[in-house]
Amino acid sequence: MAAILLDVDGVLHVSGQPIPGAASAVNRLRADGHRLRFVTNNTTRSRAALAGELRAMNVELDDEELQTTPRAAAGALAGRRVLALTMPAIIEDLEGVQLVGESAEIVLIGGADEGPETNNVFSYMNLARAFAELDAGADLYCLHKNPWWQTSRGPLLDSGAFVAGLEYATGLEATVLGKPSPTYFLAALEAVDADPELTWMVGDDVEADIGGAQKHGMKTALVRTGKFRPDAVERSRIMPDAILSSVADLPEWLDRSA
Ligand SMILES: [Mg+2]
Repeated sequence: MAAILLDVDGVLHVSGQPIPGAASAVNRLRADGHRLRFVTNNTTRSRAALAGELRAMNVELDDEELQTTPRAAAGALAGRRVLALTMPAIIEDLEGVQLVGESAEIVLIGGADEGPETNNVFSYMNLARAFAELDAGADLYCLHKNPWWQTSRGPLLDSGAFVAGLEYATGLEATVLGKPSPTYFLAALEAVDADPELTWMVGDDVEADIGGAQKHGMKTALVRTGKFRPDAVERSRIMPDAILSSVADLPEWLDRSA
């Protein structure tokens, strides 16, 4: 049996709309004896809320099986003074991080959301505050650096654009805490206690999911849902081991290729 890391957004749902067959596929993978870990770059909801939403879509999982970027940040930045431009809902997962409005050691940029709160978090005033802290010597971290993500309304601008803007303004380079950072994948592998060669990464993002996992020698399956774009695959030169219509096809595909 394999270990399987499953991306969430664009693989199991898009904007909260379940992808047909995704929940039963996940439950079948578990019943078949595969070890599962859910690895998301979501930066707008707490882990408890996200796990609850997946259970409401009939995906069987425990909160502990869900790896999120705010929890990764809490581990990496514990005890540090952090100016966080992040959605309010994830603050509960930043336990142990000292959140400050000035004299920060770290500026942390989270992801955008579909709602109006994003206007407040990434206001000019907040971005200028972040710039001032970086200019005064703070280090730049981000939960992810995604340029955009797929919603039910279509592609939306994500906070990677703000991270790139701050890098441009300061000459600094941000440390990415979520996919495709090596520490994020290593934490997931450790959690399922798996050899990379016996582990599958399943995602809709050819760069962050597939490219990131391949750097660790994992096997990869790209799904044609969520943010999948054929031209992005052709441009990227990253070749997944499998391209599937949807995660719904994964159990069958694994059976056949075993
Ligand atoms: Mg995704």
